[in-house]
Order: sequence, then structure tokens, then C-alpha cells
Amino acid sequence: MSCIFCRIASGEVATTKAYEDSEVVAFYDTAPQAPTHILVIPKAHIPSLSAITEENAHIGTAIFRAIAELSKRAEFAGGFRVVSNSGADGGQTVGHLHFHMLGGRALGWPPG
Ligand code: 5GP
Ligand code: ZN
Repeated sequence: MSCIFCRIASGEVATTKAYEDSEVVAFYDTAPQAPTHILVIPKAHIPSLSAITEENAHIGTAIFRAIAELSKRAEFAGGFRVVSNSGADGGQTVGHLHFHMLGGRALGWPPG
């Protein structure tokens, strides 16, 4: 298994988890871009948002429920942002669907 996020999801690579259920795991980004920077991923390998189909779209519900749960944390009391970089121009560097959850400071807009 070469996908780093699959290895994290399976527990083969240790990480500090912020949330976990049967379909989703969330953990802290190793290069945080905000005081709190969490990655929310499906445990199943889905390459990006472009690979969502009728069959796997239920993962969107599971991910949004995880994000809602995480949003109750004190670090996100002032608000937060969710981003899913997709493809080269989107800035995606890991080919396993993930949602960045950023908070703990006022975030600029638009992104670069
Ligand atoms: P992308 O650039 O694809 O939108 O986001 C990938 C994110 O994964 C980056 O923010 C990067 O810092 C993070 N990342 C890459 N490898 C690892 C890792 O092994 N562990 C953790 N916790 N984060 C990682
Ligand atoms: Zn994967």
C-alpha cells in the first residue's frame, strides 16, 4: 500500500487522530497552515472529489458529519474553513480525497 493516507487510515502509520468512525478518520496536518489544521479523510481510497460516484457518494455525508462534530471544538469557536484541493491546479499533493479543516485565526480570502 503506497498511499500515505491509506497507511494512516489503516493504522500502519501512526498519527494523532482528532476524530474517527467506521468510514472516516481525521488527524493533524504535519505542516499546519493555521493554529488548528486537521485533515478529514475517507478510510476507503478515493483519489479526489472528481472520483465521487453514485456508489461512493455516501462518504460525503459521513465526512460532513465528522466536520460538524469537529467544529464543536473550542479551537473552531470563532469559525473555520474547509478546503479540498483537487488536481494539479487545485494544489492537490496527496492523491487520496481529503478535506482541510483550518481555524484558530482569521483566514484571508481569496486563497492564492
Ligand atoms: P494537499 O496539498 O493534497 O491539499 O494536502 C495534503 C496535505 O497533507 C498537506 O497539507 C500536507 O502537509 C499533509 N501531509 C502530507 N503527508 C502527510 C503525513 O504523512 N501526515 C500528515 N499528518 N499530513 C501529511
Ligand atoms: Zn489512499
